[in-house]
Amino acid sequence: MSGCVYLVGAGPGDPKLLTLRAKECLEHADIVFYDALANPAVLRWAPETAERIFVGKRSGDHAVPQDDMNVLLVKAAQSGKTVVRLKGGDPFVFGRGGEEAEELRQAGIAFEIVPGVTSPVAATAYAGIPLTHRDYASSVAFVTGHEDPTKPAMSVRWRNLAQSVDTIAILMGVGNLPGIVAELVAGGKSPDTPAAAVQWGTTPKQRAVVATLGTLADEMVRVEIGSPAIIVIGGVAQLRERLAWFDARPLFGRRVVVTRARDQASSLVELLTERGAEVIEFPTIRTEAPESYAELDDAIASLETFDWIVFASANGVEHFWARLVSAGKDARAFGSARVVAIGPATQASLAARGIVADFVPAQSRSEAVLAEFDSVRGLRMLLPRAEEGRDVLRAGWTEAGANVVAPTAYRTVPVTSDADEVRALLEAREIDAVTFTSGSTVEHFSAAIRASGFEPSYWLADVCVATIGPITTTAAQRLGVPVTVEASSANVEAVVEALVAHFAARR
Ligand code: SAH
Repeated sequence: MSGCVYLVGAGPGDPKLLTLRAKECLEHADIVFYDALANPAVLRWAPETAERIFVGKRSGDHAVPQDDMNVLLVKAAQSGKTVVRLKGGDPFVFGRGGEEAEELRQAGIAFEIVPGVTSPVAATAYAGIPLTHRDYASSVAFVTGHEDPTKPAMSVRWRNLAQSVDTIAILMGVGNLPGIVAELVAGGKSPDTPAAAVQWGTTPKQRAVVATLGTLADEMVRVEIGSPAIIVIGGVAQLRERLAWFDARPLFGRRVVVTRARDQASSLVELLTERGAEVIEFPTIRTEAPESYAELDDAIASLETFDWIVFASANGVEHFWARLVSAGKDARAFGSARVVAIGPATQASLAARGIVADFVPAQSRSEAVLAEFDSVRGLRMLLPRAEEGRDVLRAGWTEAGANVVAPTAYRTVPVTSDADEVRALLEAREIDAVTFTSGSTVEHFSAAIRASGFEPSYWLADVCVATIGPITTTAAQRLGVPVTVEASSANVEAVVEALVAHFAARR
């Protein structure tokens, strides 16, 4: 029995530039060998049980030598495993994929090549530099600037290239740039030719500089742009001035911590990433089943007897619904009971389950619901709630003579894992913003920081702390966490806009 080896391009850095086929291969992998330039973020597509083996160069260490690499691949495949060999960019563009494929063929092992978005194409695109352009370039060459040191002579004929291609995109060329420039100029390329370098293209660390062939090497030293970089030589380089987009986004270069529960964070993470931020997910809470479902089950058994059912969060809807379904029921169990959704996310969560909320208060808080209902005497109200949730509505309506049932649908528990990274970044002053979307995220975040003897107010002093609204702000202030900005309405879009406005003002 022998498995298949997939030589897979991981793309240039941005995990979203992974191809669908690459994702599929990862999903089926038993073992993944990955390089230094393959973004480890794409490993999330591999099953948790898959082995992940780093074979690149780490500071001080050497990469696994190519011969050993070939043996590793052959052995893993021969043991029947589905093997993914993940490489930065494209496996056949300066990725030694050709050599590995030859070795596999010789050993009689089946393989597939999955092309990737290669860095000379992607880093330039993200820097706003088109490789070809009707006015500037009709041809482009990908060239290595790092000659194999075991080769007796330079195989790249730079002087010929100077004459024959319009755009030269150089990989691995940072160290040899002065020599390359000398050769190109000797071959007849004008030192005034526009030239650019793009480091860490497509990632939040992307940096680019535009100069001329004659000045690029010095400029790169001056602005500290080094490896890994693509060097582009040709008229197209000057287009960056007009076409820069990725690193021109409002939150580009800002590192933002998201403290939401992981399964709830995706929309916030997505919005921040779209604005250019580098997001650090630091889930401080997750939701769990309550200690007992008895009360909730009783309520669900007689759902149609309630006049109003109030959902305060999408979490509440989710947990309530799971219980409804496990009782063998569906949306019809609501009967003629009317439904309140506090907040648009809660409303959307209900809508996804076929329930159109009868009432959504203009302000996403319990007080707004309380204010909207004048006469509740004798009405039966159901408030499925978080164990640690606020008591405003239950207390208010009970006092006004309603018959209120408020069973616990879920509870929020702290997640304590991997606080080290965030602590270290805070200490190094490398966090620009922290977002809080509920009182419990603040509570557990500050507890995690305090656990290491840190005072949150001190470590957050230069950090933009953004909250989703007044209730979260109050909770933060109570815990000694200084709040910088507050969303204008209680949704994640408004949190992101508050951050954008804050950083725009500081520019
Ligand atoms: N197979 C890869 C290239 C590997 S050679 C590909 O197709 O992209 C390694 C070189 O690629 C680096 O020295 C650098 O020149 C370039 N490179 C890889 N990723 C890069 C990135 N995100 N930004 C700029 N250059 C990158």
